[in-house]
Amino acid sequence: MQNSSGNLILEINDLHASIEDQSILKGVNLKIYAGEIHAIMGRNGSGKSTLSKVIAGHPAYSITSGIIKFNNQNILDLEPEERGRAGIFLGFQYPLEIPGVSNIEFLRVATNARRQALKKEELDTFEFEDLVHEKLKLVQMDPSFLERSVNEGFSGGEKKRNEILQMALLEPTLGILDETDSGLDIDALRIVATGVQKLSKNDTATILITHYQRLLNEITPNFVHVMVDGKIAHTGGKELALKLEESGYDWIEKDSNKSEELKK
Ligand code: ADP
Ligand code: MG
Repeated sequence: MQNSSGNLILEINDLHASIEDQSILKGVNLKIYAGEIHAIMGRNGSGKSTLSKVIAGHPAYSITSGIIKFNNQNILDLEPEERGRAGIFLGFQYPLEIPGVSNIEFLRVATNARRQALKKEELDTFEFEDLVHEKLKLVQMDPSFLERSVNEGFSGGEKKRNEILQMALLEPTLGILDETDSGLDIDALRIVATGVQKLSKNDTATILITHYQRLLNEITPNFVHVMVDGKIAHTGGKELALKLEESGYDWIEKDSNKSEELKK
């Protein structure tokens, strides 16, 4: 079913996490190899965003048991910035606005921090301008967005494109996109999907969180996982997304122990 030659990028074992003493993740297991795109689907409230924030190191959640390894290293003790520099990128479901900070300056600082971790040379403002203009084309964004405050007054679709632009500059090893498709019209969806597809390389991995099938018409995932009540209850190939669109989630919830064995 899948190329098994890639390195193991992300390994999550029996992960339990809670917020304010409320248990949200209840035993997540997931392995992602280089070159793979994984979709995570599931009803609202099933824990998809929590999983992505926990991988990125959001401080509001406590890990009560389990482990997350990234490139074979336990990352649970790393700060969110350290995880970012190490190559984990999280595109938020609701991207933050940062009034007073220009988008290009923000992107340059973030890009240089990542480049430092990659042992690449820092880019000065002129070099960065060239790089960012090249990447703008990928998301078909107007250069005027570089001079505006980060995400301030951007439409939903513009924020999502800006996230893909960030991802293109940061070159993460693991890109996690949470509901990147929500609020996008079909053209913007296609641009975002093309961007993600182009950024996906055989030494990187991507997690796409979505509860619509339509993004998966544009991006073909290697695996589709369904979260139910804080766990991955079912895993299949790309056809699973179609089945979910036709039949909903009831059949999985009724039989949530039955998980298709991954044919490696
Ligand atoms: P999804 O992204 O799948 O819609 P979430 O991960 O956002 O799900 O939420 C999972 C569950 O965690 C929901 O029941 C939600 O209410 C709960 N939750 C998320 N954040 C908090 C919080 N800050 N305090 C209390 N409960 C929360
Ligand atoms: Mg969510």
